Amino acid sequence: MNILSPENCDIEILDNGRTINDFIDNKIEELGSKDSEQPFYVANLDDMVKKHLRWLTTLPRVKPFYALKCNSSPAVLRTMIALGTGFDCASKGEIQLALSLGVAPDKIIYAHTTKARSHIKYARTHGVNMMTFDSEDELVKISFCHPTARLVLRIAVDDTCSVIRLSSKFGARLGTVNKLLGRARELDLDVIGVSFHAGSGCTESSAFKQAIADARHVFDIANKLGFQMTLLDIGGGFTGRNDFKVTFEEVSEVINGALDEYFPSDSEVEIIAEPGRYYVESSFTLAANIIAKRVILDDTEHSDIVENSRDRTMMYYLNDGLYGSLSPICDAGFIFQCLCSMQAVKSSEQKYQSIIWGPTCDSTDKLTDDYWLPELHVGDWLLIDNSGAYTVSLCTEYCGFERTRIYLVVTAETWHVCVNHATPCAV
Ligand code: PLP
Repeated sequence: MNILSPENCDIEILDNGRTINDFIDNKIEELGSKDSEQPFYVANLDDMVKKHLRWLTTLPRVKPFYALKCNSSPAVLRTMIALGTGFDCASKGEIQLALSLGVAPDKIIYAHTTKARSHIKYARTHGVNMMTFDSEDELVKISFCHPTARLVLRIAVDDTCSVIRLSSKFGARLGTVNKLLGRARELDLDVIGVSFHAGSGCTESSAFKQAIADARHVFDIANKLGFQMTLLDIGGGFTGRNDFKVTFEEVSEVINGALDEYFPSDSEVEIIAEPGRYYVESSFTLAANIIAKRVILDDTEHSDIVENSRDRTMMYYLNDGLYGSLSPICDAGFIFQCLCSMQAVKSSEQKYQSIIWGPTCDSTDKLTDDYWLPELHVGDWLLIDNSGAYTVSLCTEYCGFERTRIYLVVTAETWHVCVNHATPCAV
């Protein structure tokens, strides 16, 4: 856990029974004393460690290669390095970032099927050899830029039951696989495996079963063509929330069954995955501040009934929004859970229809307009749970609003276990 030592990274150890909520309350107080209301994230290292242990026991045959694109903040990457996972990188920039933190090149899969030539060359010069492809054009490009690469053929799979679908953009259709692999042979390229992605936020575990069966079919074709197929990559798509439609355990049970059926342990095929949201979604809590408020009265009827909650709409302006880090939470239709800070909840029992806006000048910067909340006030804080996936990665500084800061916290118990024991998993 050296990479996480307080000299290497800004980490707060919660000792003497202090909780994350205590940390958040103290941080809010500290900001107040500096006359600041900057939004901030709290990243819970305990949660990431627990997720990792849960992965190891639930999917014991599958080695996780964490997908940087989901959240590449130093706090997360250092934690994943300390846990000993591999990494899925999508570009030269992500490879650079992983290498700069000390990740070994053979623990990286360059899992993007449409790569820029210069990025492929960068991977080659830096010893990153494993990469995906799904078309003939990509094969030709790779044969020029990295002829000794170890290639993984990504196939398109049924992702109709996923919140974010990917197979319309990536993945070879099964009908084209024979020709593609034949082309790889002609170009003298080394194809070592198959990958797929069932879509992010996959709600149907049978999608994994069918995808694994399809991968077996491709293995058989490739083996007949003389390739030594040694790797199956089952992609991402695993939920990181505890209240999702299907649990991680339910999906894993189906995956384990399909692996045993199509890739039994004695087949000596290495199984990896590229989980992103699984590791970070529930580990992050955003604390954002209400910086402005407007009360809109319905003056068309009964304007004399002053205390009727139905005759007014509350408009709150939060200092993080769609152009900040919140667009994936709202776009993906995930439940947007605002837990009002204690003082806000106490302020009123009555609930009002509330619209929550982001801070920028764009009227599409709206987080929700159908949320019933007790009355809030300028200066109140909202806590948004489950906000670690694809949030900080997509953050912009539009209109001059700063990126949201991240504080990494860990309980003293977890910290001592991590410091005193070897990393729980080495890929
Ligand atoms: N791998 C690839 C190639 C992806 O495109 C993505 C997400 O877009 C992931 C892994 C991570 O997916 P998830 O966050 O759903 O686990």
